[in-house]
Amino acid sequence: MATAVWVVCAGLAALFPSVSGPWLSALVLPVAAAGFSWRGGAGSAAAGLSLMLCLLLAARGVPVWRLAGAATAFIAVALLCLSEERLLRARLRREGERAQDLERQAGLQEIEKERRRLSIQAREESIGEIGELYQLSMRLLATLDWEQAHPVIEEALVRWIPTLRGEERTRTLQRIHALVDQGQVSVEPLVQSMPLAGTDFQARDRWAIVSGQLALGLQRVALYGQVQKSATHDGLTGLLVRRTFRERLQEEAERSVRRSVPMTFLMVDLDRFKQVNDTYGHLVGDVVLREVANLIRGSVREMDLVARYGGEEFGVLLPEADRDLGFQIAERIRRTIESAPIRAYDEEIHMTVSVGVALCPAQTSDAEELVEKADQAMYRAKETGRNKTVLAES
Ligand code: GH3
Ligand code: MG
Ligand code: MG
Repeated sequence: MATAVWVVCAGLAALFPSVSGPWLSALVLPVAAAGFSWRGGAGSAAAGLSLMLCLLLAARGVPVWRLAGAATAFIAVALLCLSEERLLRARLRREGERAQDLERQAGLQEIEKERRRLSIQAREESIGEIGELYQLSMRLLATLDWEQAHPVIEEALVRWIPTLRGEERTRTLQRIHALVDQGQVSVEPLVQSMPLAGTDFQARDRWAIVSGQLALGLQRVALYGQVQKSATHDGLTGLLVRRTFRERLQEEAERSVRRSVPMTFLMVDLDRFKQVNDTYGHLVGDVVLREVANLIRGSVREMDLVARYGGEEFGVLLPEADRDLGFQIAERIRRTIESAPIRAYDEEIHMTVSVGVALCPAQTSDAEELVEKADQAMYRAKETGRNKTVLAES
């Protein structure tokens, strides 16, 4: 717009030199000022220079309006050039911006492509991990006891907590085994049993998920163990039940004969136990039975087997024990019970037992006959005063 005004002024000055001179000169100043404010920099410098030139030549007597016309034309050309340059610059800037936009878009596409690749990879990895977890639970499903579950758990530890090594892994396995034994196999204690300090959040999260699978499998193992135990062990005393004991007795008797190694069987019966029930009640009687079972267990060797054979009768199998050792252990049981007052609720009760002793293979090689002989010997102990140990007749 300003450029057009300059061009018009220059044209008027050329066409009507006498009329337009002073008026155009009057216009030169404001339009030059406009040029200064609009163009800034080079445009204003050109306008300023032409004005100074006008004033200089006017002072020398050159007609002002001619000089103004010349200055106007000069400035108009300068501004046109500047305007062109400005347009060019603007175009270049726009091109540059477009190029940047394109670059940015290309970059964004690259980023998006990478994001998709990573997301597919992550998805594939998760699917892989889900598959592994599924396999782990399927393998655990096929285990019934700790012996079978142990290698599966160890593999899971190696796979899911690779930082766990050597001694620490063994200790962790022991802790998990203890949880199974206590029947406390839920996710929380399993996670807590893990030394995860120093591992990252992802590893912890993963282990929490794996623990869920382990808990399900190990709960079955614990449950199976409990069922097994209740089938083979007496609920009140924790001793072997008669049926299981008879099976073991049979095996040991055969082994004793085969290897010519002596074995002794004891039948232990509480003396006048009915009186305890009658006097203090069955609850107290139960405690007495439990305590007597503990005393018997504490009087025999690690290798010996103790069973609750009947109501208040206990069978004791002493492998590799000859007559002397068998008799010695029988007496130890009798004396221990005789000298240990039993506390049951608020009562203190003194108990004694009568013990029958039978020897294998010295007296018989047959398990059933062995029990029979020990039973007869025990009854003889009763008949002859109770609280004594009697050896079976050959
Ligand atoms: P003995 O010296 O002749 O052996 O006399 P005893 O009283 O010990 O023998 P008896 O066979 O007359 O009585 C055994 C009692 O044991 C009878 C029964 O009530 C009791 N009994 C058996 N099983 C249990 C049990 O599980 N709990 C309790 N509290 N009592 C039991
Ligand atoms: Mg009795
Ligand atoms: Mg009895």
